[in-house]
Amino acid sequence: MVTCLRLERHSPQGNLFFMTNSRMPSEQIYEQLQRRDSALDGVLFSGVKTTGIYCRPVCKARVPFRKNIELYPTAAAAEAAGFRPCLRCRPETAPFCPAWNGTRTTVERALELIRSGALETGNVEDLATRLGIGARHLSRLFAEHVGASPRQTAQTLRIQKAKRLLDQGEASLEEIAHQSGFGSLRRMRAAFSGLYGRPPSALRKRTRR
Ligand SMILES: [Zn+2]
Repeated sequence: MVTCLRLERHSPQGNLFFMTNSRMPSEQIYEQLQRRDSALDGVLFSGVKTTGIYCRPVCKARVPFRKNIELYPTAAAAEAAGFRPCLRCRPETAPFCPAWNGTRTTVERALELIRSGALETGNVEDLATRLGIGARHLSRLFAEHVGASPRQTAQTLRIQKAKRLLDQGEASLEEIAHQSGFGSLRRMRAAFSGLYGRPPSALRKRTRR
């Protein structure tokens, strides 16, 4: 993932963008956001306080005032903070590359296992055991690198996968619910209503129009 390598070049010691307590972009990052710098795509997401929506840095929408932006390292983190994905720049299509440092491998393996359904078939303790660490350590690593818990991250990844399948084609909602790991259409509907404020069928119509 090219974007991740770019981030490491800028930031050999790890997390450049999120070292301070403030989530407001620095002048430099804000200038990059105004240019819609694609180097930031997947590296951070902008939550817009006035709308409750979060965007990719490459979104075509008007760039808000700096004071109205909160930066998050992943889509899962923006969602955990209560922001909804933008329907225009489609954060589910951004590369997934949180700001890593030394523990990259463990978090990457955890994300791979979550993507392949580890939290549908087991719990966070089982996942941590497979990685050879304790559940609390795993949660700490996720808080630091992903900005969301393993469960929240799994939910974001399920919704993102379902959204991509909705955009792609003709699969039925039931099929999409199963393919994306929800287990049932009812659970997928609940997740979409909670996040987008509308059912999956409404998002499908929107993308077809
Ligand atoms: Zn957007």
